[in-house]
Amino acid sequence: MSGVPDRDLVVVGCGPAGCAAAVFAARDGLDVAVFDRGRSSLARCAHLENYPGFPAGIDVGTLSELMRAQAERAGCAVVEDLVESVERADGAPGDAGDPDEPRFVVTPQSGDPVDARRVVAATRYDGEYLRGLDGDEAMFEVHDHGGETHEHFDREYADRDGTTPVDGLYVASPSEADRQAVTAAGRGARVGKKVVADARVDDGWWPAAAEGVDWVRREAELDGEWADRGRWVEWFDAEHADGPVDPNSARFARVREAAVDDALSAYVDADEETARAAAGHRALAERLDPDAVVDAHGADVLLDAMDDEAVAAYAGEEGLDAPQADGGTR
Ligand SMILES: Cc1cc2nc3c(=O)[nH]c(=O)nc-3n(C[C@H](O)[C@H](O)[C@H](O)COP(=O)(O)OP(=O)(O)OC[C@H]3O[C@@H](n4cnc5c(N)ncnc54)[C@H](O)[C@@H]3O)c2cc1C
Repeated sequence: MSGVPDRDLVVVGCGPAGCAAAVFAARDGLDVAVFDRGRSSLARCAHLENYPGFPAGIDVGTLSELMRAQAERAGCAVVEDLVESVERADGAPGDAGDPDEPRFVVTPQSGDPVDARRVVAATRYDGEYLRGLDGDEAMFEVHDHGGETHEHFDREYADRDGTTPVDGLYVASPSEADRQAVTAAGRGARVGKKVVADARVDDGWWPAAAEGVDWVRREAELDGEWADRGRWVEWFDAEHADGPVDPNSARFARVREAAVDDALSAYVDADEETARAAAGHRALAERLDPDAVVDAHGADVLLDAMDDEAVAAYAGEEGLDAPQADGGTR
């Protein structure tokens, strides 16, 4: 197999680890598919009460929907299919360094195989589909439980940033971080950032330049000298003057342009901040039980927030008297 890969990245699993990895990678512009089906640790949790941001906890069905929606909004294709195998393209390890070549063929249960440049495994309970990418003794460990032997994917197979001895294969889960949902998500984020940095290196960046943060910042903070693009260029030149790439080369100039574009694109103006806040509330509200919303806010607050004509039309259809501003009915 040769040619351009279908995807820059395939993530296997959209639990906390896979969702975080996929979102970080897609937000940096990588073309990501996330496969999600099969045995899930999160689905077994009765109610998740220690994940930040949910004061009374969150039911795992809603959290799973929110995570899939977040991956899609970041630009990922979320595919409800079980990955059965990941194999090296052509069965060969040797395409390292050519970013235009796929490294892996990901075969799902129902859909067509997908060629991918990189793969992130993010499946707490499953590593079987990775068998054959490296030696069994490296990837799996054998436990003895009451006289019976069981084989498990080795939680310590990958490094902390998810990298493995197999070029282009990362493991976000199983890992030593997979026992709590929030630490699994943190691990996924770390792995996603490593994938982004490695993809940039493929594109000619050098490691110190490829590291970055995924922040959204207020344009109002972009003041003084930093409002001037030239200041960012100066900063980049100073940061990387002693780096591995000649500051006078075309490669250095290209990476600098991309890095400065990236830094400046993090800033949003006040209108954009408001629009994103509204979109954020809407995306949450779409997944809330309407009865809970009425209970939390009270019917009056919700009726006030609604268009009067819509309320009157609804009351008419239901054969109800529409409420009037003075509290009476007509
Ligand atoms: C009973 C129980 C209760 C728990 N309670 C809590 C708690 O209260 N608080 C807490 O912090 N943690 C709790 N945990 C732990 C928590 O569920 C995990 O830490 C967390 O879900 C790990 O996230 P993950 O993304 O690594 O894996 P998972 O949550 O297992 O997500 C993996 C995803 O990959 C998908 N998948 C699997 N195999 C494949 C495949 N071959 N192809 C495609 N997709 C695949 C699965 O469907 C799933 O969506 C609990 C776990 C259990 C078992």
